[in-house]
Amino acid sequence: MSLITGFEHIVRENEPLAPFTRLHIGGVAEYFAEPTTKEELVALVKRFAENGLPVRLMGAGTNLLIHTQGIPGLVLHLSAPAFGQIDVRDNTITAGGGARLSHFVATAVREGLTGPQHLVGITGTIGGALHANTSAVGFDIGSWVQSAEVLNRSGELVTHEKENMSFSYRQSSLSELAILSATFQFDSESAEALTKQMQKLWIVRRAAQPASDIRAAYVFKDHGGDTASRLIEQAGLKGTRVGEVEICDRDPNFFIAHEGATADDFIRLIDLVKTRVQDQQEIELQTAIGIW
Ligand SMILES: Cc1cc2nc3c(=O)[nH]c(=O)nc-3n(C[C@H](O)[C@H](O)[C@H](O)COP(=O)(O)OP(=O)(O)OC[C@H]3O[C@@H](n4cnc5c(N)ncnc54)[C@H](O)[C@@H]3O)c2cc1C
Repeated sequence: MSLITGFEHIVRENEPLAPFTRLHIGGVAEYFAEPTTKEELVALVKRFAENGLPVRLMGAGTNLLIHTQGIPGLVLHLSAPAFGQIDVRDNTITAGGGARLSHFVATAVREGLTGPQHLVGITGTIGGALHANTSAVGFDIGSWVQSAEVLNRSGELVTHEKENMSFSYRQSSLSELAILSATFQFDSESAEALTKQMQKLWIVRRAAQPASDIRAAYVFKDHGGDTASRLIEQAGLKGTRVGEVEICDRDPNFFIAHEGATADDFIRLIDLVKTRVQDQQEIELQTAIGIW
């Protein structure tokens, strides 16, 4: 029996990962799986765990930098409809880990549930957003979570209730392999008022960040009271380029990957910014982008 016997319909070998990321950079995954049900996902994770092989989970790939030499072991992708459901009941929304944050925001606004409108225009999945406690204008996704179902690295399902979870700036206690779903609770407000608010926020955000067809990443976490963008600008680095990767003029915390950009270009630019900000401002910037 081979490692993937019984899973041939959902596992591919040596799958290029670049097309699954916004940056379009990176090598192949030794194994890449798109399970269609929770049961399949659990059985697959158990198989790889028993064989001592590493397993990672990729969301929408909006903030991932993948090395050119690729990834050993298994990369999971929750692209099947089973992981992308969004259900509304009264003032709660239950969303799958693979559901798009944009659909979640649109659903909440349509249903007159206030909060998620602040996250309009941020790309990614619910799982990715919970993993990093995605936030904007002082509102973070973790603050609305009531419970979350996760899958750990041994292949066991666990449910966390609100009191057992913690969320802080770009960080959450949900560090297991996969966030499968979460239930959120909101206050009510008129859908019309929320729609107007969302539209205004969307115009501001669209003007502030690279267009969705640009290969861009959100690179550093803010530090203390200062934004990473300001620290990079103060270090005189706006527009700096290494190879085919460039610091965005509009907002220097976005790095833009041009045609031919490599993970090495990206990492050299990250190192350059960290060194310059450390030398000039004595601040150690932490990366927000996931580097595989
Ligand atoms: C243009 C742009 C603007 C942005 N603006 C903001 C902003 O204003 N505020 C903000 O907070 N963030 C911002 N971000 C970052 C954004 O929050 C992340 O890109 C997004 O949350 C990542 O989600 P994803 O599904 O694409 O995850 P991926 O990029 O695929 O993965 C990122 C990490 O999340 C983990 N992950 C993904 N899904 C799951 C899951 N189901 N279970 C467990 N772990 C998972 C992965 O293992 C990986 O470690 C921005 C990014 C971009 C590119």
